Amino acid sequence: MENYEVLIVGAGPAGSTCARLLAEAGLSVLLIDRDRFPRDKPCAGWITPAVLETLHIDPQLYRRERLLQEIREFRTGAIYGSEVVTDYRRTVSYGIRRGEFDHFLLLRSTAPCILGEPVASLERRGGGWLVNGRIKARLVIGAGGHHCPVARALGAQPARESTITAMVAEYELQEEQLARYELPAGWTALSFTRDLKGYGWLLRKGKFLNIGLGSLAGGNLREQVLNFCAYHQGRGHLPAEALRHLQGHAYLPYRNGGGRRLVGDGALLIGDAAGVSYPESGEGILPAVESAVMAAQAVLRAAGDYRQEKLDHYPAAVAARFAGKGAGSGSFALPAAVNRLGAAAILSNGWLTRHLVLDRWFLHRGERALDLGCQPNPLAPLPSS
Ligand SMILES: Cc1cc2nc3c(=O)[nH]c(=O)nc-3n(C[C@H](O)[C@H](O)[C@H](O)COP(=O)(O)OP(=O)(O)OC[C@H]3O[C@@H](n4cnc5c(N)ncnc54)[C@H](O)[C@@H]3O)c2cc1C
Repeated sequence: MENYEVLIVGAGPAGSTCARLLAEAGLSVLLIDRDRFPRDKPCAGWITPAVLETLHIDPQLYRRERLLQEIREFRTGAIYGSEVVTDYRRTVSYGIRRGEFDHFLLLRSTAPCILGEPVASLERRGGGWLVNGRIKARLVIGAGGHHCPVARALGAQPARESTITAMVAEYELQEEQLARYELPAGWTALSFTRDLKGYGWLLRKGKFLNIGLGSLAGGNLREQVLNFCAYHQGRGHLPAEALRHLQGHAYLPYRNGGGRRLVGDGALLIGDAAGVSYPESGEGILPAVESAVMAAQAVLRAAGDYRQEKLDHYPAAVAARFAGKGAGSGSFALPAAVNRLGAAAILSNGWLTRHLVLDRWFLHRGERALDLGCQPNPLAPLPSS
């Protein structure tokens, strides 16, 4: 029998961040993931500088061995319509590759981990948990994404929830394609659907093209994505082979008071398992990391007493951090107030696009990064992949 204070299910950005913080604070933590790393993950790989800041990642060091594409301008507009170019003249976002990024975070965590084993059974035993029939833990932290088994144990019913669904393809341009490819590295376009419940994107990061579409509207997402890809193929922006790499996934946007139960006796959810992604943009990496930081702080504060009432600081901290972000708008792409103003008018106006759509809803400018609340060894020697 293996015995741990804390078992974290899922080694994505949420799980590995939380594991690192708890292990550095001296707790015995085990991280478990059904996949072996580096693993692929359907994602655009767009992050804001706040992600690096919160995680104390030095961009210069990170990019020595990994892709870190600077993004300085966005092209935005209604899908298949004309575009407004917003040039910030400095880096306001980055493009990463999820396989590299998640592996990097995992390697930085000093917690032991089991990879390639799914959590298949989770039994409440004597005030703690017995996992997969052999791992004992006093607290389980669910970081296993939308279908996380810990979320199910806390009552989540993923099939009944209203999710963001998204499909994406990441394609490596071949040498001969690179020679004649016209969009420069860092080129980023966001194309909002007519119902304003979603948007498509095309992003070039280094040698990679990332194209996809996400929506809260449900319906035939695959058809919408294929049409969007065909449009970019027609413009000469997308090689036909890229479509072979299309993958899809669903996850929950944050909803004030209407989301998942985040804590129970001896259990707590973070990241996509908790449903904390931003409703306006679908950005999930930053909220995953932030929820992991807040969870680690709540666990340390509970000081070994993991009854629900001792963990209740955590849902309160999550609500304080995420409340008001798109709450109640029901719209993925743009909040209700913007919706009423008329999407076409806003998306064709340079000032509104920059200050409302990009600064406020996508880049969260003016918000302070979360303090890790501990002294990490400035994220230790950078691990090699
Ligand atoms: C198409 C698409 C594009 C996106 N683009 C962006 C973007 O550009 N920027 C952004 O910020 N966000 C984006 N997101 C959202 C983002 O990917 C997620 O919000 C983010 O990955 C959440 O991190 P996490 O650590 O909570 O979960 P994940 O990264 O999903 O990690 C969960 C881990 O749990 C493991 N796991 C699951 N079940 C089990 C089990 N039973 N046992 C053991 N392990 C298990 C999985 O293998 C996985 O490694 C996108 C999402 C999609 C679908």
